[in-house]
Amino acid sequence: MGLRTIRDIDLKGKAILLRADFNVPLKEGVITDDTRIRAVLPTIQFILDQEGTSLILMSHLGRPKGERKPEFSLMPVSERLSELLGRKVAMAPDCIGDEVKRKAEGLGAGEVLLLENLRFHNGETKNDPGFAKNLAELGDFYVNDAFGTAHRAHASTEGVSHYLPSAAGFLIEKEVKFFAPLLEDPAQPFVAVIGGAKVSSKIGVLESLLKQCKTLIIGGGMSYTFLKTKGHSIGNSLCEDEYLETAGSLLDKAAEKGVEILLPVDHVVADEFCESSEALLINSSDIPPGKIGMDIGPKTVELIQSRIAEAKSLIWNGPMGVFEFDPFAKGTIQVAEMVAACQGVTVVGGGDSVAAVNKFNLASKIDHVSTGGGASLEFLEGKALPGIVVLQDQE
Ligand code: ADP
Ligand code: MG
Repeated sequence: MGLRTIRDIDLKGKAILLRADFNVPLKEGVITDDTRIRAVLPTIQFILDQEGTSLILMSHLGRPKGERKPEFSLMPVSERLSELLGRKVAMAPDCIGDEVKRKAEGLGAGEVLLLENLRFHNGETKNDPGFAKNLAELGDFYVNDAFGTAHRAHASTEGVSHYLPSAAGFLIEKEVKFFAPLLEDPAQPFVAVIGGAKVSSKIGVLESLLKQCKTLIIGGGMSYTFLKTKGHSIGNSLCEDEYLETAGSLLDKAAEKGVEILLPVDHVVADEFCESSEALLINSSDIPPGKIGMDIGPKTVELIQSRIAEAKSLIWNGPMGVFEFDPFAKGTIQVAEMVAACQGVTVVGGGDSVAAVNKFNLASKIDHVSTGGGASLEFLEGKALPGIVVLQDQE
């Protein structure tokens, strides 16, 4: 699997069309978190450091659904990017059209143009070939560094690659570098810690991880479906009854393969699903009638501690409890701390898990915190990501 990266290519004198993920959170037109912009800076800087290059940036923002809506303008991104780069980032009036083309063609060496929101046009998400071709006409070379949308075959992530030579930026390179070995030949023991709300959204990930992992730790809302299928009582905890059978067969498969499965052996429960509900410790795998499982308990934390500490490679996806509510965040905090302390290669993926790691200020102690929620899950499921496939040389 040879990923072509900007390192392998002579970019000198070229106009580079770079797909980035500038889908940042905005509040009343102000960027509240610029992590995604900062994540692409090394790629932007590298491109601009090559002799005679100009740069045309493109991204989507939110879901304007094919309509030009001012609240989804990328203007705030062009301003923040100008500050971060210390050079002017001009804002284009649209992402295609004659005026945009003139602006792109008029760029001198070292100049940067940001195209307006790609999703102001339906052609983007429809992967319309005409729209993709219009984008391709703006540059000489296509670089994709938007890992967060790499699982979507859109015009700017997939279509455009049919009209221009292409390569991956450093962010996609890094994501692939950390995720690919987990599916192929992870350093053993490979431990997977999977939580979050639903079995249904993670079953593909669980099945895929069973192939390589030595220990699979299941926590969070999805653990109750597994406990129930094993005959435990789960009170009023979250459960997907239509997945009881699937959960059961996953446990059977794990037993056949000799993969150790660890489920919660104690719980923090509540009477109601709300932050103000009193947290009560249940020192058993079974949850009494009427109670809702909200977090893993201290015995469970202790049980999984040695596995996490011994891991040579580790993936964590999905919180261990309702960490958004302080009284039920402890299990997730402790797992985050154990992952941070693990000496092996540690990877965290998934929107909420990454939010948890950031909330607890542990990101710098983890080897790789993925920038793509949905994309990282599909990668772990072993699916080919359309935005990455087109950047690979087929052997
Ligand atoms: P990720 O985005 O990291 O992949 P998910 O989206 O699968 O994670 O799950 C995150 C959600 O799971 C959080 O909103 C969290 O509150 C919820 N969750 C965790 N444990 C429980 C639980 N015991 N009951 C209900 N919801 C839970
Ligand atoms: Mg989520």
